[in-house]
Amino acid sequence: MKGYAMLGLGRTGWIEKGMPKCGPLDAIVKPIAVSPCTSDVHTVWEGAIGDRHDMILGHEAVGEVVEVGSLVTSFKPGDRVIVPAITPDWGSLEAQNGFSVHSGGMLAGWKFSNFKDGVFGEYFHVNEADANLALLPDSVDPAAAVMLSDMVPTGFHGVELAKVEFGESVAVIGIGPVGLMAVAGAALHGASHLYAVGSRHNCIEAAKQYGATDIINYREGDIVEQIMEKTHGQGVDKVIVAGGTVDTIMQAVEVVKPGGIIGNVNYFGEGDYIRIPRIAWGCGMGHKTIAGGLMPGGRLRMEKLVSLMETGRLDTSKLLTHRFKGFEHIEEALMLMKDKPRDLIKPVVVI
Ligand code: NDP
Ligand code: ZN
Repeated sequence: MKGYAMLGLGRTGWIEKGMPKCGPLDAIVKPIAVSPCTSDVHTVWEGAIGDRHDMILGHEAVGEVVEVGSLVTSFKPGDRVIVPAITPDWGSLEAQNGFSVHSGGMLAGWKFSNFKDGVFGEYFHVNEADANLALLPDSVDPAAAVMLSDMVPTGFHGVELAKVEFGESVAVIGIGPVGLMAVAGAALHGASHLYAVGSRHNCIEAAKQYGATDIINYREGDIVEQIMEKTHGQGVDKVIVAGGTVDTIMQAVEVVKPGGIIGNVNYFGEGDYIRIPRIAWGCGMGHKTIAGGLMPGGRLRMEKLVSLMETGRLDTSKLLTHRFKGFEHIEEALMLMKDKPRDLIKPVVVI
C-alpha cells in the first residue's frame, strides 16, 4: 500500500509498505478524511520526537473499518469511525491511574506517526479498537469530524486543565485551530470575558464566532500590558496556552489572578527550561497553578464530543479553510501546514 511518510529528519515523500496486521483486539481502517497537524510539522522539520525513517505520518482521521480482530465486539467492517490521535493501552497501570495518555511511558499513548505508522496511508492499524474508536454518526460531515481527532479534544483539554467555571474571565493565548477550540470550549464551559490572543485575520474572525469577547494582538503590543489594561489591573481567572514560546508561560503567570490556573496544551520545542516569574508567582505562595497535558482519547470521550456536533452545539467547519479531494493531496496539505500562509487555519483532505 501507499503512504505519505517521514523519510528522515526534514525529508518527506510517498513510500510503499506492506499492509498493517490486525491483532485480536485491533482494527484495520482506511481513511475517509485526514488532516495534517502542527505536530506533524514539529515531527518532521523540528525533530520533536527524534529521527524516524520511512514512518507514515498523520494522526488525525475518520475512516471506514475494513477488518477487526477476533475479540473486537463493538465494530465491524463497513463502520465509519472517528480515530483519536491518542490511542492508549487501556489495561496499563498508567491508564488505571487515570492517565491513559501516558500508558507505557510519558506521552506514549500517542502512537500514530510516533511509534508506528500514522493515518496518511491507504490503510492503518488501530490498537484496542473497542476502547479507542468511536462510531461516526451519519449526520456529521466526515471532514468536520476529523477535527475530533485532535483539535477539539486538545483545545477542550486546555479548558479542563484550567478548570474553567461559570462567569470566569479566561485568556486563550494562541488561536490556531487548537486555541480556537479552547475558545469554543471555554465559552461552552461558561467563561464570561474571553480574551483571545493571536494575529491572523481568519483566526481572529473565527475566535469572535466561537465566543471571544476581546482580541489581543500580540504583534501590536505586550500581551501582559494589554490584558492588564482590559481587566483594570485585575488579570484573569484562568489562562489556556495554545501557542507561543517558553516565555508565554511567564506571561500567563503574570496575567492570572492569585488562585488561578494555567492550562497548557502547547508544545514547547525550544530551550531546556521554562521560567516562572518569581514575584508574579507570589514568591512561590501565590496559589497560581500551572497544569499541562496531552489530549486524552478514548471511545467514551470521542462519543461525547461528537454528540456536541450532532446537537449543533459545536461547529468545527469554521476551522476548515482549505479543503482537498483525493489521497494524493496529502502532501500539499502537509506543506500548507508547514508554511502556514496567513489565511490558513486547518487543511483537510477528503479521500
Ligand atoms: P498554530 O501554529 O496554528 O497556532 C499557534 C497560535 O499561537 C497562533 O494563533 C499564533 O498567532 C499564536 N502565537 C504564535 N506566537 C505567539 C506569541 N509569541 N505569543 C502569543 N501567541 C503566539 O498551532 P495549532 O493551533 O495547530 O497548535 C497549537 C499547539 O498545540 C502546537 O504547539 C501543537 O504542537 C500543540 N498541540 C498539542 C497537543 C496536545 O495534545 N497537547 C495536540 C495537538 C497540538 P498567529 O495568529 O500570529 O499565527
Ligand atoms: Zn494533531
